[in-house]
Order: sequence, then structure tokens, then C-alpha cells
Amino acid sequence: MRADLIIVGAGMVGSTLALALEHCGLDILIVDGSPLSVAPFDARAPFEPRVSALSMASQRILERLGAWQGIATRRASPYGEMRVWDGSGTGSIHFAAASVHAETLGHIVENRVVQDALLERLHDSQIGLLPGARLEQLRRSGDDWLLTLTDGRQLRAPLLVAADGANSAVRRLAGCATREWDYLHHAIVTSVRCERPHQATAWQRFTDDGPLAFLPLAGPAGEHWCSIVWSTVPVEAERLMALDDEAFCVELGKAFESRLGMVLHADRRLCIPLRQRHAKRYVEPGLALIGDAAHTIHPLAGQGVNLGFLDAAVLAEVLLHAAERGEHLSDERVLSRFERRRMPHNLAMMAAMEGFQRLFQADPLPLRLLRNVGLDLVDGQAEAKALFVRQALGLAGDLPELARA
Ligand SMILES: Cc1cc2nc3c(=O)[nH]c(=O)nc-3n(C[C@H](O)[C@H](O)[C@H](O)COP(=O)(O)OP(=O)(O)OC[C@H]3O[C@@H](n4cnc5c(N)ncnc54)[C@H](O)[C@@H]3O)c2cc1C
Repeated sequence: MRADLIIVGAGMVGSTLALALEHCGLDILIVDGSPLSVAPFDARAPFEPRVSALSMASQRILERLGAWQGIATRRASPYGEMRVWDGSGTGSIHFAAASVHAETLGHIVENRVVQDALLERLHDSQIGLLPGARLEQLRRSGDDWLLTLTDGRQLRAPLLVAADGANSAVRRLAGCATREWDYLHHAIVTSVRCERPHQATAWQRFTDDGPLAFLPLAGPAGEHWCSIVWSTVPVEAERLMALDDEAFCVELGKAFESRLGMVLHADRRLCIPLRQRHAKRYVEPGLALIGDAAHTIHPLAGQGVNLGFLDAAVLAEVLLHAAERGEHLSDERVLSRFERRRMPHNLAMMAAMEGFQRLFQADPLPLRLLRNVGLDLVDGQAEAKALFVRQALGLAGDLPELARA
């Protein structure tokens, strides 16, 4: 099977790229190891444990690609405020969408919901979709990439995009150099029912062992649900995972200083080891890496997939402009335009997350004092906070057209 462009990975990021190129006249094939089926949405079903805080920029991209409607009709929780505080001090900071005249800071959406809304659009499009297609081998064959799937089928294309996630097979098989290191953190994720309303606020407490986030979910009337991301050292994560539900709720409530009253119930827990990865280059002739295949960062600021959506939108824009000018899309000079626009932004975000994480895990007293004073200082600076809010909305920097107002 041959195509002009093969995208490996029909996750949130790969699907977004395919849809952004839907009308460009290229013969596109998107392949994924999973069945790529869309389950009927059941509003009474428990929340999926994996959620993402989607920025305004991501919302705009998904709106323009016709996928936001499918998200909004399923389940999405807007949040307008963010409260962050230091669990071992007194410093705190509060952000509000209203400070930049925005209605929301973003939406908390289950990953499954985003994925299904995108898949629904893909199934309705002319884009070639190959489910159950797991990449096993990859090599150059003339000007093409030759892909061999686990069932022996072969695919070829002059342009290949890796959107196959953190453990990207394309990245590994193509020999792309990557810098990676362990955060020495595991993230426990689940959905919890709290005693008190979440006030459409994203809450984050920095504990000595790592950040604990309570993200608002749109639960049934009269019930107050949050998605939690509890990042902590592996040995503590193992201990917390081994607790029964009741004991886990008690420990979680304590770690969160009972800001939303008691934690009344916790759903099934998942424990995810956290690693930072960054490909040294996002492109080589005929190949581009996007989303988690190019970079994975600590979830403390909920930015991973937001960066991935911007990668997809920028790559689509670069390819569309190059096609208009009659350039070869697999030319490294063309693909490098994508890398030049996205790498500095992704690196800056990764560095900021790294700095945050280190500062809040630092034990020496001067650093503790600094972060408490620093948080309170910034909290009093309306302009500095507005800058941060624009970053959180994803509206700072070099935006692709799909993400602009
Ligand atoms: C605890 C936690 C919380 C997070 N919270 C947030 C948040 O609030 N906001 C945010 O923006 N980000 C968040 N993230 C990050 C976000 O989840 C990821 O950035 C995002 O899922 C990456 O999407 P992707 O499409 O690049 O990759 P993936 O979602 O991993 O998709 C990869 C796709 O490739 C397919 N695939 C893999 N290997 C192969 C193969 N060999 N052959 C064929 N197909 C293959 C898979 O089946 C999958 O469909 C969080 C991450 C974690 C761990």
C-alpha cells in the first residue's frame, strides 16, 4: 500500500494532524495498532482516569477541525480559576480567566472523549484509516520509507510522521537521538468524589514529594467530582496504590489539606511512571516527529497534549504552504521550518516545568523561603499573572492560524 504521507499513531495528536491536512489533496494514510473504534458515549459511565486540561489554543484547533462539537456534546468541564500553593509553607497564588477578559482558563476533558470526537471526524473523512496496524520495522527504500507491520503487511510513503506516543517505534527504528531522564516520580491518576463543590477551579498543592492536582469534572447534579494527578516518589506511589479505597481517600484528603472537604470516593487508580524525553531533532529527510513522540514533559502544568496539538497545527501549516509553492514536502529544508517554530517553544515549556519541579522539591530553608515569598510576590503582580494566564491559555508565542482568534 502506498500513500503520499503516512502518519503512525492515530492518538489525539496524529488524528489532529490528519484532519488539519484533510483538504490538501495529499493521499494520507493514518495507521494505529488499536482498533480505532468509537464507543457510544454513556453519560452515566464512570470518568476515564486519564484526562487533559485543554488550553484555549487547543480548543480553537479542535473547533476549526470540527472535533470540539463532539467533545462538548459528550463531557467537558470548563474551569475559570487556578489555585496553587506550597504545602510546606504559606505561599500561594491565584489565577483567574477574568484577569485577561477570558471566559475560561481551559477545559478538563477525558482523553477518551477527545480521542472519540477526533476519530468520529476521521471516520467521516476521505483520509485513509488503517486500524490494527502495528509498526514493527522501518527502513529507507529509494526516496520512500518502507514500513512493515507486525502482520507482515508493507506500506510505503515519501513522507512519514511519527505520532506514536512517548515510546515511539518510529523514533526508535529511525534511530532518532533522544535525551531522556527519569523524573523519579510516579503519577497516580483517578477520579474522586468530594464533599464540597470544586468551584470550577484547578487546584494544585506542592507537597514535599511532588505536586497534587485536583481538576474539576462535570459530575451528576449534586455530586462534586475531580480528577486527581498525584505525583510522588515511586516508593510512596507504591504504598498509596496498595491502600484500600477508604484508606486512600483519607490519605488523599489529608495531602490536599481537605480543601474540598472529605474525599468520599475514589475510582480505579492508575499509576504512571514519569519520564522526560526530548528528541534532539524533530525532523530528518522525509520524517517529522510530533506530540509525545518528540517530547514528553511532567504533567504538573498539564501541557503535554497542548504542545502536541500545536505541533500538529504548525506542521500542517508548513506542509500546506510548501505544497502551495510546489516544494517537495519531504525535503528536510521544508520540514525544518516546523522544527524551528516548535522546538524553542517546547523546550521553554519543558525548562519551566523542570524549574518548577526542582524549586518545589528543594528542601533547604532559603529555597523554601524564596518560593513562598516568590509566590506571594507574583500573586500581587497583576501584569505578571496576566502573562502567565496567557501562557496557560496557550495564546503566547508563534501561533499557527488554526489556534488564532
Ligand atoms: C498523568 C498524566 C497527566 C497528563 N495531563 C495532561 C494535561 O492535563 N494536559 C495535557 O496537555 N497533557 C497532559 N498529559 C500529557 C498527554 O497525556 C500526552 O501528551 C498525550 O496523550 C500525547 O498524545 P499523543 O497523541 O502524542 O500520543 P498517544 O496518546 O500516546 O498516542 C499514540 C498513538 O500511537 C499508537 N501507537 C503506538 N505505537 C504504535 C505502533 N508501533 N504502531 C502503530 N501505532 C502505534 C497508539 O495506539 C496511540 O493511539 C498528561 C500525561 C500524564 C502521564
